[in-house]
Amino acid sequence: MQAPLIGINGAGIGGLAAAIGLLRAGFRVRVFEQAAQFARVGADINLTPNAVRALDGLGVGDALRETAAQPSHRISRTWDTGEETSRLEMAQTAQAKYGAPQLTMHRADLLQALERAVPADAIALGKKLVSFEAPPQGQPGSIRLTFADGTHDDVDVLIGADGIHSVVRTGLFGPESPEFTGVVAYRAVVPAHRLDGLPNLGAFTKWWGPNPSSQIVTFPLNLGRDIFVFATTPQDSWTLESWTAPGDVNELRAMYADYHGEARALLDACDSVLKSALYVRDPLPQWSRERVSLLGDACHPMMPFMAQGAGMAIEDAVVLSRHLAAAGTQADAVSLADALGRYEAARRERTARVQIGSRGNQWLKEGGNADWVYEYDAWQTPLAA
Ligand code: FAD
Repeated sequence: MQAPLIGINGAGIGGLAAAIGLLRAGFRVRVFEQAAQFARVGADINLTPNAVRALDGLGVGDALRETAAQPSHRISRTWDTGEETSRLEMAQTAQAKYGAPQLTMHRADLLQALERAVPADAIALGKKLVSFEAPPQGQPGSIRLTFADGTHDDVDVLIGADGIHSVVRTGLFGPESPEFTGVVAYRAVVPAHRLDGLPNLGAFTKWWGPNPSSQIVTFPLNLGRDIFVFATTPQDSWTLESWTAPGDVNELRAMYADYHGEARALLDACDSVLKSALYVRDPLPQWSRERVSLLGDACHPMMPFMAQGAGMAIEDAVVLSRHLAAAGTQADAVSLADALGRYEAARRERTARVQIGSRGNQWLKEGGNADWVYEYDAWQTPLAA
């Protein structure tokens, strides 16, 4: 008997990580991606030690270390005076404590490393899923996928790794209504040489603003050759939730005109900026139905303040792969559905805690202990019974 065919909708970070894990477990895998080609979109990805450990187990950690930066410290500063209110050691200290460092990199470098670990014939580009149809409860048979180009495909299991606007989630549970926070986020990448003379460029620095929605975060990318700038501020007039919409650098500078000179110098060096409205969603009460489940932003999209969006997607991918591997490559329809339910049970509490924790801009404000997030080992955490 052939191994079940696992269909993954979305070749983002979580979808590709799941493909690697499931292929290694002996499953047949097909990833469907709406984009016609992989492109260098987005700006940063901040991977904390829990995410790096999961990626190391997938065999892509060495490739990431070729381009990623490893921030030396995590520093908190006050927006107007510049006073340093906390300084945590990262780099070697995180490696020694958690078995993996924090890595910060361009999102495209992470995607490229993941994509290279998946055989090209397992990824179907230009396939935008519009709907799916699953057999009645408890029945065997294929799940039929329908794409925007009018074509179809059949799979034994469907994983929705299709991000914040997930079609698979909508197909399972209907449309959602996320709540706009009234906060927008700006993202920019600046060549480090333009910032010569500014201190702490090798560190993760957070400027805590005059209100809980206002902040500027900076950290190195690309082995320190670039500096990433992430800034949030209240703004009711912009509601577009997009990773790729351009913003206005002059508006960005005006928003932070009262910040400390060193923070403003970072913004002055930006040529272009991406702008996105931030929405908040409650944890989903359920992610799976029969042989269809979700991972990553499709089931727990979160605010960026704990930098765990990618990390949770990668952890999901590993834990999902382990539950399906435990069911085995000869599993029948009932066992596959059971494995998805157990995967969900293993992941829901942790991801909901991080999702809720990410809402407030309070994470590590006073220094604090990050162990419950960073110590998690997706390869060792017990499988759900
Ligand atoms: P995503 O990474 O969002 O991946 C979802 C994938 O599914 C995408 O490739 C998407 O094209 C595909 N997809 C969606 N709908 C369909 C469909 N109907 N049919 C087929 N495929 C579909 N995070 C940051 O921290 N910084 C950034 O700069 C940043 N930039 C981003 C740029 C883009 C274009 C995207 C899609 C995401 C970006 N993110 C960024 C988000 C971050 O990558 C995710 O929050 C996180 O990694 C969770 O990953 P995910 O795999 O669950 O979802």
